[in-house]
Amino acid sequence: MAKIIVLMGAPGAGKGTQARLLQERLGLPQISTGDIFRALKHAQTPLAQEVREIMERGQLVPDELTIRLVKERTAREDCRNGYILDGFPRTPAQAASLEKLAAEQGNTIVAILIDVPHEMLEKRMTGRRNCPVCGEIYNMYFKPPRNDNVCDLHPEAELVHRSDDNSETVRARLATYEEQTRPLVEYYKSAGLMRTVDGTREPEAIYKDVARIVSGVNAD
Ligand code: AMP
Repeated sequence: MAKIIVLMGAPGAGKGTQARLLQERLGLPQISTGDIFRALKHAQTPLAQEVREIMERGQLVPDELTIRLVKERTAREDCRNGYILDGFPRTPAQAASLEKLAAEQGNTIVAILIDVPHEMLEKRMTGRRNCPVCGEIYNMYFKPPRNDNVCDLHPEAELVHRSDDNSETVRARLATYEEQTRPLVEYYKSAGLMRTVDGTREPEAIYKDVARIVSGVNAD
C-alpha cells in the first residue's frame, strides 16, 4: 500500500525542509499547497488576485479550492507510489477530505508533527530565504549562505524572501495556525493518529526520526 506522508506543524517548523529531504531520498513527490498557491503569483485572474490577498493577510485559502487543487495534483501519475503533503491538511474539513481521498486511492496516511515552540518560529520565518533556482532553504540567523544573499550552488541568483515572511504577516499566520490548525493537531494526537518529532534540532537529526516513522520502525 502506498503511503501519504503528511507533515504537520506551525509555519516555520521546518516542514518544507523535511519534505525536500524526503523527496530527494525516497523519490516521492513533495506537494506543498503553499507552493501551489505561490505559483499563482503572476497569474492575472480574479481568483489568483484573491489568493494573493488571503496569503498576504496570513489567512487560509478557502477549503473548497484547496481541496480541489490537492485532489487534482495527487491524481497525477507521479503520485502512484505515494506522496508527501507539506502544509495540508490545515483544517478539519481538509483532514476529512484527505481521509476520503486516501481511501479512494488505497493509500495509508502517516501523519508526523514537527514540534517547535512558538517563541522560536517567528525568527525562523523572518530569517528564511529560498534559492529561486533549486529551492534550497536558507536562514539568515541559523543557516546563512556562504556568500551574501546568494545560493551556495547558484551564485548567479539572489535569494528570495517570501513576501508573507514579514513580521506582520508572520504573526497573523501563527495566529491562524493556533485558531484553525492546532485543534486538528490535537485531534490527531489524541486519536493516536500522529507521531511527533522534536523540531528544534538540526534538519538531519529530525530527518532520522521522520525516516524511521515513515519506514514503520518505532522512533520513540
Ligand atoms: P505555507 O507555504 O505552507 O506556509 O503556506 C503559505 C500560505 O498559503 C498560507 O499562509 C495560506 O495562506 C496558504 N495555504 C497553504 N496551504 C494551505 C492550506 N492547506 N489551506 C489553506 N491555505 C493554505
